[in-house]
Amino acid sequence: MLVRKAIEVSGIVQGVGFRPYIYRLAGERQLTGSICNTAAGVSIEVQGPPAAVDDFLARLPAEAPPLARIIDISVREIPCNGDLGFRIIATHRGEPVSTLISPDVAVCVDCLREMFDSADRRYRYPFINCTNCGPRFTIVRNIPYDRPFTSMAAFRMCSACQAEYDDPSNRRFHAQPNACWTCGPQVELWDLEGRRVQVTDPVAETVTRLQRGDVVAIKGLGGFHLACDATNADAVRTLRERKRRVEKPFAVMVPDVSTAERFCEVDEAARQLLLSPQRPIVLTLRRKDTAVADEVAPFNRYLGVFLPYTPLHHLLFSEGNFSALVMTSANMSEEPICIANDEAVRRLQKLADCFLVHNREILLRCDDSVTRVSGGRSRQLRRSRGFVPVPVFLSEEVPSVLAVGGELKNTICLTKGRHAFLSQHIGDLENAESYSFFEEAIEHLQRILEITPVAIAYDLHPSYFSTGWALAQSGLPQIGVQHHHAHIASCMAENHLDGQVIGIALDGTGYGTDGRIWGGEVLLADYSGFERAAHLAYVPLPGGEAAIREPWRMAVAYLVRHFGCDFVRGLPLVADVPPKNLNVLFRMMEQGINSPLTSSCGRLFDAVAALAGIRHRVNYEAQAAIELEMAIANSSDESAYPFELVPEGEGWTIDTRGLFEALLRDLGRDVSLADISRRFHNGLVEVLAELASRLREKSGLQRVCLSGGTFQNAYLFERVCERMGKENFRVFSHGEVPAGDGGLSLGQALVAAKKIS
Ligand SMILES: [Zn+2]
Ligand SMILES: [Zn+2]
Ligand SMILES: [Zn+2]
Repeated sequence: MLVRKAIEVSGIVQGVGFRPYIYRLAGERQLTGSICNTAAGVSIEVQGPPAAVDDFLARLPAEAPPLARIIDISVREIPCNGDLGFRIIATHRGEPVSTLISPDVAVCVDCLREMFDSADRRYRYPFINCTNCGPRFTIVRNIPYDRPFTSMAAFRMCSACQAEYDDPSNRRFHAQPNACWTCGPQVELWDLEGRRVQVTDPVAETVTRLQRGDVVAIKGLGGFHLACDATNADAVRTLRERKRRVEKPFAVMVPDVSTAERFCEVDEAARQLLLSPQRPIVLTLRRKDTAVADEVAPFNRYLGVFLPYTPLHHLLFSEGNFSALVMTSANMSEEPICIANDEAVRRLQKLADCFLVHNREILLRCDDSVTRVSGGRSRQLRRSRGFVPVPVFLSEEVPSVLAVGGELKNTICLTKGRHAFLSQHIGDLENAESYSFFEEAIEHLQRILEITPVAIAYDLHPSYFSTGWALAQSGLPQIGVQHHHAHIASCMAENHLDGQVIGIALDGTGYGTDGRIWGGEVLLADYSGFERAAHLAYVPLPGGEAAIREPWRMAVAYLVRHFGCDFVRGLPLVADVPPKNLNVLFRMMEQGINSPLTSSCGRLFDAVAALAGIRHRVNYEAQAAIELEMAIANSSDESAYPFELVPEGEGWTIDTRGLFEALLRDLGRDVSLADISRRFHNGLVEVLAELASRLREKSGLQRVCLSGGTFQNAYLFERVCERMGKENFRVFSHGEVPAGDGGLSLGQALVAAKKIS
């Protein structure tokens, strides 16, 4: 007796070797039938003895190719027919195909084995790939994902490659970027004028130059890196000076996990992240006295490490024997990563000593992703290469919306059905080049994802460039979403929550509905709206933006608020501020000149960091807050600075007078910086737990959502989770999507989608 089943598989199952996999799985069991691509994924029919068909069905999800992501499988019985074999039915133009495109993936072990095999025809070929690995997202020009619609269209396959491409049993069956020495992309070494350097082996020459301390701009998967030997302090210093990047840490690429373990503390979760096909940068605690130069991450207890992910990276490491290379996005600070060869020569001339380029075009830039393990699981700090454009899967269908995100660490989001497509990291939009990238990403993603939005969601901040762009679009409803509401909605969407939650949104800056700068917010929220239940008490931000760059100003703002101007004069905090300037600052705050009011949690961290003597000025965003967290080091102090809840309207303001009194007392008693930092963090945890309990009493809500950039502080995050867990709250946070402004567009999209549906 025979049975025949029709199987629909949805998810990321195209362009990832799924059809040859099914072909082999069916062949091994002598099943007949067919497979073809559909709009939702693939459609399979198999026919054979019931036991063999059952075995096929059981193995199908379990042994799927590494890049496949199966969302749903449905099976129904259909009448048998006279099939004689198993066929792969080709996709024809015009037929529906899935819009789920695979992200770029690290080179696989099979390809590496071939690349290092001197007998293989692809021996040392820097662009080796197969259906299980290689570029995808960054080479897609249009859909369907077929070679003519990618930047590989420029390369005509040789007969050997074509034979692999056409053979359903081959690992390279329909591998769109398939290539070899004969027919595929090649590398070249260029000098600063963009002229080809005449060498027989550009990779070997690059290795020599890196070894002598040069900075080389190396074209990769989603853009150029600036590379130098991370164990050579002079080389790293040169790179810093040229990039005008004073202290912000560089990420380093290391050849393997054991080297990463030599430099950093790598736990099992971090190890898995390092080895994952996404190959993100992983922030790990740095060991003392390693070969990595201090200049790589000054004043930082953490080091961002990642493993080689392109064949070219592997060649550089194997031939150069490097233990660590700085691999940082090739740009001037805050500009988008460079992707084209001529653009690199133009923009990187003053940064690099030479260029290792190739002729496979990168169609859409995509930075390295940055992750960190906290609370036992991986957290995205910057979600880009390796993850984009895998959608965030939603709990229900939503209308198609374009959300344009915030201003810093911008991403955009497009929704369709049950998918929310978060873009790669775009960057800080006040930079003109980033703004062009923002426009380019909107256009490109709408095209390759085939999404025509019916509404646009934007942040309420009137001077955000993203907001300006959204309001300039005509013909579509424009929906403004409050910044912290969007943070909480983003957390809800990622966790498939509906209904009302207690939302704790802590960050640096977000425009409030009262025109003030919010950032220490406790909301009762659902997708359709929110009530502001509590917030940090307002203080002036003396000098506006200047107060963000100079945390000492925030310390002054808090101290003046609680203890008056006279108290501040003579403090070590203002020792290097001329009295005249200090008086100007006092007057500004008093008269509200360029001193907008803020409830920002980030600025509270700044004030505490400055007062504790950690730093008065920052060189990159959130530096003072990051260093305040790191100051905790090995302190195990369990005491907590007091915060006070002062009733206001229906809710509370969180007053900080008690906190500053205790902090000043400790400073006078020479309490260690580690203990001071820990007491501050503990105090914040306590007041948040207290607020959540009061709100539960009032509303009956049990679920707490944590969002906003401040929750990228691992100590704060883990303590809040632990404390709330003890109080029997159900605590939700971010994993897949950044807690910071990189995740904002997802929340905006969901709020807007709810509004119009
Ligand atoms: Zn491969
Ligand atoms: Zn070839
Ligand atoms: Zn924010």
